[in-house]
Parts: sequence; structure tokens; C-alpha cells
Amino acid sequence: MSVLAEAFSHSDNRSFSLLSRLFSSPIVRGTYKDEKPEIQMNFVGSKTEQKRLTHLVNTIARHSPTGRKVLEDAAKAGYSVDFELLADSCGCCNKENKRISLNPCMNDAKLTTTFTHESRHAQQDMRGINAYFCSYDVATELRLRRAKEADAQAVALQTALEIRASTHDGAALREFKKAYPEIVAELPLTTTEKTLENVVADRNRNMTVAFNGWFDQQAMVSAYETGYLKAHLESISGKDETEQLHIFAERPFRGHLDSVQIVERVCQTENGKCYMEADKHALNNPKMCGIAFETKEAADVFFARRERLTGQPRDKSYQELPSRGSLTFTPNYAYFDMPYDVKKAAILNKILSQKSR
Ligand SMILES: [Zn+2]
Repeated sequence: MSVLAEAFSHSDNRSFSLLSRLFSSPIVRGTYKDEKPEIQMNFVGSKTEQKRLTHLVNTIARHSPTGRKVLEDAAKAGYSVDFELLADSCGCCNKENKRISLNPCMNDAKLTTTFTHESRHAQQDMRGINAYFCSYDVATELRLRRAKEADAQAVALQTALEIRASTHDGAALREFKKAYPEIVAELPLTTTEKTLENVVADRNRNMTVAFNGWFDQQAMVSAYETGYLKAHLESISGKDETEQLHIFAERPFRGHLDSVQIVERVCQTENGKCYMEADKHALNNPKMCGIAFETKEAADVFFARRERLTGQPRDKSYQELPSRGSLTFTPNYAYFDMPYDVKKAAILNKILSQKSR
């Protein structure tokens, strides 16, 4: 098959977007080697897309022990990978159909960390962390959903650091730094490169810094709080009683995990240890567990209504949480390579469209 025919042919009967294929085609990316993937994962897509996925998997598997383990676990759990044009993000991980999707518009350096990030979500699911929003009480939801994101970014950063040490190519790390400067801000990034051995030895420290740094992205924290929590609480608004009863049933807000339990479950290293060992109460820090007043207000309305309609006692878990002020966005940096307003709308749309998963 010619390279162009390969780029636009498809490996299954799924409908596919020609435009999506274009971004992985030789016209945009040049050609990829025909090599075997180091990790057996089910790749869905054209021949060229599969070659590109193989290239990404091999970059991670050959040069980052941390990334390799995460991808291996996702593969073991039966996750497949494809490219999907995502208007608003670099990638996503869908638990229902066990599919990791990567945005083909992003360059390979960016997708290296995205792939690891999304695979980490698959690994979190394997560890029994309930993926459905509104499963736990409000205080747990706030801490847990944030912690899962911070943890996925911690693994992504460690992978980029290991790849730089192994290959002396800092592109993945540069892309990550550019997109999420707060996460990297406290990391002592020396100009003299460390050996891979040293970077692996520093893993717990690196991941702790990244985990804590995630919470410094105020706009990101607000976007998640809005989409994962406030939007669900507000979903009863304007609905009749029957619809509201459905909403209450689908969003039980039941069960509590304290800060230490969340950190122990989420912040795991590959040998079953916890990289936040020295600071297991971190999620009690106001920066980590603060609630915006708009969210608190929405919760008050939601649980008062639920009590009236079902007799279920109100969730009081969030009453003692510190306030983080208003949900107003304070953007002064880039998430992705998009202008801010597009990004803000895009993140919200993405989160809102995920419903209570
Ligand atoms: Zn994520």
C-alpha cells in the first residue's frame, strides 16, 4: 500500500474521520518506522495511525520505566488506544469501553505525556477508585477528583523527566512545562542533565512536587470543581419531581474517604508505596480542599431539596471545608495551545459532556 493509502485506510468498521487521519498522515508528521510495539496494546486506526501509536508506545516503553509500567497495566486491563479529534483536550480515558483516545492534532512530544496521563487513569480504575462522579459525599468528591488529576500529571511529568534523561531529548518535558508551568514550578530543573538512574531515584520527590503543583492552577481547579461537582448539584434546577428523584438516585453522594485514605489510594508508586508518604494529610491543606462559595450554595440547595423529597439526611461533609472564594477564572497562562477563551469554554464543555461518570 502506498504511504498515503496506508494513512487513510482503516483497520475496523468503525466510522472514522478523514480529517482525524490527516493529522497522523505523512503530510503532517512525515513517516514512521515499521516496528513492533514493545507493549502489546490494541491499536485502533489506519496503518499509519498504528505506526504512530507504536512510535509513542516505544518512546515511553524504551526510555521511561515509570511510563512503561503504567502503559503495561492499561494494556493488561484491556484498554485499547486510538486517535480522536478532541476539540478541547489532548486525550481522554473512557472506562466504559476501555478506550484511551489521543488527539492527533497534538505533536508527539505532547502526546507522550498525554498517553501516560490517560493510562494512569486506567490504572486508577484498576485500583478500585470509583470513576463515577458524585459517588461519594461532597468533601470526598472535591478531594478525590482533584487528587486523581494531580496524580495523573505527576506520572506524566516523571515520564517526561525520564525520557529526557534517557534520550537527551527534552521535547516532551518542554511541551509539558509550557502547558502546565505551575506543576513544574517547584521542581529543581537543573541545566545539567541527570542520569536515568538518578531521575528514577528522585521519583517520589518529583511526583510529590507535581502533585502539589497541580493545585496551584487555580483556573484548572475551578474548571474541575464546576464540571465535576457544581454542574451536577445544579442539575436539579428547573426539573420536575420525578426527574429530580432520578438525579438523586444517579448521584448518591454517599460514603466518605478521608484525606489520608484518598492519598493512600491515589498516590501509589509502582511498588505499592505512597509517594506522598511524608505528607499524607496534604489534602487537608486549604489549597487542596477549599470549596468555592458558588459550589457550597449549590450543595445547600441540592441537599435541602433531596431531604424534602426523599427524607435522606443532608450531606454535611462540606460544611467545615475552608472557602476558596469565588469560582472566577484567573487565567494568566496556557493550558493547551489555544487562546484562553476557547480553552475555558472547551474545558467546561468537555467536563459537562462527561455527565456523571
Ligand atoms: Zn486526566
